[in-house]
Amino acid sequence: MTRCLDCGAERITDQCPSCGLTSAAAEVMFRRRLLKRTAVFLAGSLAFPYVSQIYPPLDLDWMLVIFGLIFFLALTLAVILDRRARQRQELEVLKRIYAGFIPLPWILAAMLFLNGKLDSQKNVAYHPTTVDSRYNMRGIVRGTRRLFVHSWREGQKIERLAVDFDDYDRFRAGDSVVVGVEPGALGIPWYFGVYRR
Ligand SMILES: [Zn+2]
Repeated sequence: MTRCLDCGAERITDQCPSCGLTSAAAEVMFRRRLLKRTAVFLAGSLAFPYVSQIYPPLDLDWMLVIFGLIFFLALTLAVILDRRARQRQELEVLKRIYAGFIPLPWILAAMLFLNGKLDSQKNVAYHPTTVDSRYNMRGIVRGTRRLFVHSWREGQKIERLAVDFDDYDRFRAGDSVVVGVEPGALGIPWYFGVYRR
């Protein structure tokens, strides 16, 4: 006894009693849907880093690590699902787990967006600090630039500010600066701007 790859109904004959597809047709249907879902996931995976550049959270690097893990797990699942479908193996459980991954990058991107968008500029808090060092990793699209400043938060030594190109260029190690931070409408503090003092 196996389950139909497309609708998940139990079946004993080659043709599914529920949706009427043969096992070959169900495989084609399933893999087509898998491709569509993966495309939705990948689009969300572009939206997340994009939004994170508009309203960069203070703990962006930590979030990117989590996000990278989600990305890696989901794509691994997609590959396993595709392989199992081709071998006509049971995939009901994996299918459900994978479905849970699809909206994740969209939810994370929407969260970051609302966190910044709904925040008021009146809430910016300014923290005097000094620049510790800089970090620049060239990327194909925009690259990664970080300005490391001494932290004002308890239990934290360094803040890794996701600055844009201009701000990256303007400051050197040892510079005295003021960092503007918004509390975030959803409670995720994000980097607003850096100024010379
Ligand atoms: Zn079926």
